[in-house]
Amino acid sequence: MKESRLYEKLKDSAVKCATCAHGCVIQDGKRGICGVRENRGGALYSLVYGRPISQAVDPIEKKPLFHFHPGTTAFSVATVGCNFHCLFCQNADISQMPRESGRILGRETSPEQLVKAAQQQRCRSIAYTYTEPTVFFDYTYDVALLARQEGIANVYVTNGYMTPEVLRAFAEAGGDHGSLLDAANVDLKAFSDEFYHHQCGARLQPVLDSLILMKEQGVWVEVTTLVIPELNDSTDELKSIAEFILHNLGAETPWHVSAFYPTYKLLDRPRTPVETLRRARQIGLEAGLRYVYEGNVPGSEGESTYCYNCGECLIKRFGYSIEHYGITESKCGQCGAQIDGIGI
Ligand code: SF4
Repeated sequence: MKESRLYEKLKDSAVKCATCAHGCVIQDGKRGICGVRENRGGALYSLVYGRPISQAVDPIEKKPLFHFHPGTTAFSVATVGCNFHCLFCQNADISQMPRESGRILGRETSPEQLVKAAQQQRCRSIAYTYTEPTVFFDYTYDVALLARQEGIANVYVTNGYMTPEVLRAFAEAGGDHGSLLDAANVDLKAFSDEFYHHQCGARLQPVLDSLILMKEQGVWVEVTTLVIPELNDSTDELKSIAEFILHNLGAETPWHVSAFYPTYKLLDRPRTPVETLRRARQIGLEAGLRYVYEGNVPGSEGESTYCYNCGECLIKRFGYSIEHYGITESKCGQCGAQIDGIGI
């Protein structure tokens, strides 16, 4: 147990959590929506600090981050818990465990031990992923501080529902070297409050606000949308997402449009047809985005990186593997155009 960094004490021993946009007001002895923060005697504690449930070495492409140190590995870590309850969650067994059963499982691992494990595995980055890192923010913050000192990058794979205070804390701790968060893949799951409300138990606006703030802070941002038949696959909705990215985050921001498959509580929808992903990718490119990728369709042409200037295939991928790399010093090997990203 560790006291939360971001909360406010209220009267009668209640507290208000300031870690995510739910802003839970929690009475003594109760937990917040995520099920992993608990009020004990008028103070708020993280129940998952230093207790990861998953640790694995993944290609950075799996996050997915395609323009951030391509071809390197990320030491990936998660605790149980999430502040969303998406009906289509692919990791519901661990993300929903605290809410559904009240259980908090995990193996004790201090920030020092975690960073050491990442070093031993020669990982370029640590990715806070699989569940929602915002709910284990306090742990990610302490790990990220140490990782930065050791030259290891920090990556959030997130639903973007953190408060601005979380992002400011990372930025302030990073000081002149930039936010402790080097990169983030942020889900922009749809472009309507209705979808966020019914499918995830959340709202759209805080996600948009986080994306804009991350960009302002210099965090490398890539966006993912899981395209679900009849829920968020209309041309209008996909166009709205593409235009939001273009006008608020910039043409250089990669957009991953990924295929849904039936899982958890969303079992009455078919898999996303490949043609739908092609259409989504086309919408993004026509809107003016430079890099739009099809996800969960290994072998598709839409997995590869093309030069936005001359069309040359620069990074040929198959799933998470790189088969050909044609970028030199961040420039297209064919026409010399600057290719966007970090360590690319
Ligand atoms: S992290 Fe979010 S869901 Fe969890 S207690 Fe805090 S405000 Fe509530």
